[in-house]
Amino acid sequence: MKIESVDFFYLSMPEVMDIGDGSQDSVLVRVRAGGLEGWGECEASPLPTIAAYVAPMSHSACKPVSHSVEGMPLNTVMDIRKISAVVHQNSFDLLQADHTLSGIDIALWDLLGKHWEEPIYQLLGYEKAYPKLPYASQLFGDTPEQTYEKAKASRISGYQATKFGWGPIGKGDAETDAMHFRAAREGLGAEHYLMIDIGTVWNEDASRARKRLQSLKEVDVYWLEEPFTNMALGPYKTLAETSPSVPLAAGEGCNNYVQAAAMMDYAALQYIQIDTGRIGGITAAKRVADEAKRKGITYVNHTFTSHLALSASLQPFAGLKNDRICEYPVEPKSLALEMTNEKILPDQSGHIVLPDKPGLGLTINTEAMKKYLVEAEIRVNRKTYYQTPEF
Ligand SMILES: [Mg+2]
Repeated sequence: MKIESVDFFYLSMPEVMDIGDGSQDSVLVRVRAGGLEGWGECEASPLPTIAAYVAPMSHSACKPVSHSVEGMPLNTVMDIRKISAVVHQNSFDLLQADHTLSGIDIALWDLLGKHWEEPIYQLLGYEKAYPKLPYASQLFGDTPEQTYEKAKASRISGYQATKFGWGPIGKGDAETDAMHFRAAREGLGAEHYLMIDIGTVWNEDASRARKRLQSLKEVDVYWLEEPFTNMALGPYKTLAETSPSVPLAAGEGCNNYVQAAAMMDYAALQYIQIDTGRIGGITAAKRVADEAKRKGITYVNHTFTSHLALSASLQPFAGLKNDRICEYPVEPKSLALEMTNEKILPDQSGHIVLPDKPGLGLTINTEAMKKYLVEAEIRVNRKTYYQTPEF
């Protein structure tokens, strides 16, 4: 097979709000080859991501991603790895390139899985996909009372693990944060796994994080996520060495393998969280999973959007039996919810498992996506570089 076409669909909710919810818009990627279609989703701002695919060359290390993808052979796993390497070589000065590559790479794995009639995790070398324990990933309430109600609702809906993040947390004083932490624990009960996500609010300031350690310890937090900016290696290490110690999780901001490797080597993390829609796709994410296993760091997916993205994010560590916790989006916007015809749902025991169908194992509901499609055009000197394609 040869890659015949790569199409980008800019999708959006009618209104995009100023909240930490990445499911409000999306870039869906469709790749066609050999009479088959593969799909992928980028976890990225749509228009710059599409622009990185089509923009005229700026200089030799700043070529559009299309330069390294269109017409390339696609028959084996090595062909996908080669495309990834060539994109890095040709576009390393184009900072959006890895975001753009992510959706393409996922679509390539989906397409190759369909071609060989195997789920992606088998193409990656795993014999089986182990069940994962999903944590209900959601935003903090605006007040501790709301956080308590959300926590109670999460426990009642049958989840055994819940993560609260973003919203007001970390922005006010330490006591207000402590009230949210306690409200979450009270609502969830003592047995429940509770994760806290600061959403990088403290930038590089370890002293602000230090003031919350005691209250985090008191609610028995399973991990503290992203207290600092991605790649703030020093502050992460400082916090990890501060008492009382709380396990640290981060990595969703990594947009290439090298960053994830540095975070694993120098940020004293116990959990590395990777978004396949951002790091360069399944190819780069699997490298991280392999390295995490060697280092004894637990791999966790990062996903806050559709079940297409969820399937992609689970493939790289599907066969790692001991890395059993996974992120599970519970309050995505309708755009993300309606994207796939099938869903990955918790079973009786509260676990989820990847579909055993070829590729990502899910199909796109193109009819439902039409109402979210944004009409866009990129024109330079009267030449059209991009125009919204048809589903
Ligand atoms: Mg997070």
